[in-house]
Amino acid sequence: MWMANSLAQALTQELDAPVQVQFTRNRSTPVKAKAMGPGPFAKAGVHLSLHGFFKDAPPGTVTDLAHWLRFGRRARAACKRLDHWIQTQVADLPAKAPRRVRLRTSGENHDLMPLMESVRQQEFPNAFSDTLPLPAITWSQQSTKSKLRTLRLGSYNKTSNLIRIHPVLDDPMAPEFFLRFIIFHELLHVVHPTFKGPGGRWVHHSKEFRRSESQYPDYGRALAWEQKDLWILAKRRNKKER
Ligand SMILES: [Zn+2]
Repeated sequence: MWMANSLAQALTQELDAPVQVQFTRNRSTPVKAKAMGPGPFAKAGVHLSLHGFFKDAPPGTVTDLAHWLRFGRRARAACKRLDHWIQTQVADLPAKAPRRVRLRTSGENHDLMPLMESVRQQEFPNAFSDTLPLPAITWSQQSTKSKLRTLRLGSYNKTSNLIRIHPVLDDPMAPEFFLRFIIFHELLHVVHPTFKGPGGRWVHHSKEFRRSESQYPDYGRALAWEQKDLWILAKRRNKKER
């Protein structure tokens, strides 16, 4: 565990120029560097504002930080490792007080609540309990103008325990079996939570996740519909919006 002083000392040694460290709680800018005078950091010295999670920075991260201070983005490998470490730390920070979300389960054409309930009964009869509560579900409000290939039909937010379904699917032409499949996929995210794999990368769709998903009775039919017919909905929707 670093104190501001000891970390500053370690960095001063690595950089061979004076370094001051101040810990902050700024999660949107976890690293801020300001030269102490004219010239590059390695000459002028640098004042660093670092998020408090740097108190637990491993020695390699401190070295990477010093490399970045000396060479900037040219220290590509160091920057990549540093960015990754920072991202992981930010992701692990306790959630801020969640934004209040207004839930809208019944859309113009489909009601998500009974759909989720039927998926739960069929596919997860015993999975949800007080310790693993069934998430809430809502139609999302995101703009539908996004291109189809970047369209995210469903998402699951663990912090708010909320499933969001893209409004492009609130269409009479969207079959219920497809909506059920999307809900099923998001419920699988609750049952198979995202974890950090070897190398520190986040695994969203583990082998077990994919296996369970492929065993879904309508799996083939749903994928086929997505490939063949989904674009029609997106097109219709865009027309309506214009
Ligand atoms: Zn997924």
